[in-house]
Formats: sequence, structure tokens, C-alpha cells
Amino acid sequence: MSTYIFGHTTPDSDSIVGAISLSYLKNKLGEDTVPSRQGEISAETTFILKRFGFEQPMLKTNYAGENVYLIDFMESSQSPKDISDATILGIVDHHKLGDLKTNAPLEMWVRPVGCSNTIVKQMFDYYNIEIPKELAGMMMCAILSDTVIFKSPTCTKEDTKACKALAQIAGIEDYKALGMEMFIVKSDVLSDTKRALVLRDFKDFNMNGNKIGVGQLEVVDLSVFDNMKEELFEAMAELKAEESRHTVLLLLTDIMKEGSQLLVLSDDNSKIENAFNITLENKQIWLPKVMSRKKQIIPFLEEQF
Ligand code: MG
Ligand code: MG
Ligand code: MG
Repeated sequence: MSTYIFGHTTPDSDSIVGAISLSYLKNKLGEDTVPSRQGEISAETTFILKRFGFEQPMLKTNYAGENVYLIDFMESSQSPKDISDATILGIVDHHKLGDLKTNAPLEMWVRPVGCSNTIVKQMFDYYNIEIPKELAGMMMCAILSDTVIFKSPTCTKEDTKACKALAQIAGIEDYKALGMEMFIVKSDVLSDTKRALVLRDFKDFNMNGNKIGVGQLEVVDLSVFDNMKEELFEAMAELKAEESRHTVLLLLTDIMKEGSQLLVLSDDNSKIENAFNITLENKQIWLPKVMSRKKQIIPFLEEQF
């Protein structure tokens, strides 16, 4: 029986590439693993897979009775519904400690770095296993994506070091240019419905019994959203009502200006205003220097809840 390796719901490039890279490593170490995914992949991830000649992992949403490794998450709210009926053999992640429970000892590689693939690179080094050129290229792109080409405050020296080493293995000199190419693909917001945009990189968090959904769109120029704010709010309202969420936030991140426009729909705006010490105008506010949901948004919300 193969072990499945997968990332969070609404998978991003780190989750998809991480499933592939960790599976390759585990198989080299003599295990029988298969990368999988919990949902559809993004245009950015499609670009990366195509660039380096990989197929997307199989779509699988039920894991009862299976052995699994998790990569890039450890929250029940980002897990398959039946995760408690699966055996978690290990977790490779760079997020805060989540609420998942296991009934057996497990392997954990959890580090406060900018990308799960940085940790996978360190695992390759630890086991002294060579990374194939094309896989290295994909892992490099995952790091550039998660760290927003090293601009995110989540980016550490370990990420830049891993990224540069992977670029060398991949034979890519101007890796930042490739990163920009990737973010231009990611900046296409016109070919999707507004609902799909809000859901493109959307995560739910359970904060003291309240469901808080936070979406993020990273673009090279915020003006692409100029004429669609109201429609984005409508899509957010729909998502808020559907699953009785307390709050739905959308971060519109400008990777060149290095800040985010925060759109807010909440049962209690004061919680959001207090979290960031702001006053909302028209249900929104510009947050300079804010680029990371994980580091600059979630901890402050959790404090309020
Ligand atoms: Mg992720
Ligand atoms: Mg990640
Ligand atoms: Mg991200």
C-alpha cells in the first residue's frame, strides 16, 4: 500500500511541488509513496510544472485507512475531512503548530523558514541524496513563490541559501527573472470569476470557535483590482454566509510596492481594527509592508479572538 503525500486544501505551489519533492526523496529512501493533491492547481503551479516537465499529482480527497505524510500544513481546517481516520507518518511544514492529533509517534520536520521546500532541500542534504536538475528547478520556484522572491518577512537566510543552491543544480542563472515571470502569470486576475479569485489562495482558521477565512492575491500591480472591489466584496459575502464564517478577509498584495490592501467583511469590525491598530474606511485599508498572512495577519487576529 502506497503512502500518500499531500499539501493543504486549495494547494499552492509549495504544497504541490512539496508533495512531489518529498515523495521523490522518500522513494529514494526506500519507501513507497505517491504525491497527491486536495484540489485544483493554480495557473502559477501549472506554469512551474510545465516549465520543468512534471505532471500534476493525482487528485485525492479521501484518506481514511491510508498512511500519509503532510507537507505545508498541519491544521485540521486545511485537511481532508477524514484525516482523523488516516495514519499520519510525518509532517514537513513551516507554519505554526496546528491542531491535528495523531495516535502514533511521527516524524516531524518543522522549521520557521519561508517555504516547505527549503526544509525538503535540507532533508535531501541530511540524507545525502542528489536532487535531479528538473526537480531542483521546481523546488527553487516554490521557494521564490512562498517568499515572494525573498521580499516576504517570512524569508530567512536558509531560504535564500537553499534557493541559490537549487538554482545552481537546475542550471538557472537569473532565478529572480524566472520568479518575476511566475508572478506575472500569478497576476492574471481577469480570466477568473471573482469567487475563484477570493478562493485562489484561501485558508480557514478556527479561532476560539470562530471560522475565519483569509484569502490572498499577490500581484505585480494592484491597479488590476481597481474596478472589481465591489464584486470581490460580493464574492466574499457569499463565502461568509455559506459556511457561517465570522470573518472573511482578502489581502490584495502588491509585490512591487510591498504592502497589502486589506478587504474586510466581519461580524465584528472592531476585532480587525484592534488587531492591526487601524480604522477601516469603506471596509478596507492599505497596510504598508504587510505581505505575509502567516506572520503579519494570523497571529494578530488570534490574539483578538
Ligand atoms: Mg502553502
Ligand atoms: Mg508554504
Ligand atoms: Mg503564500
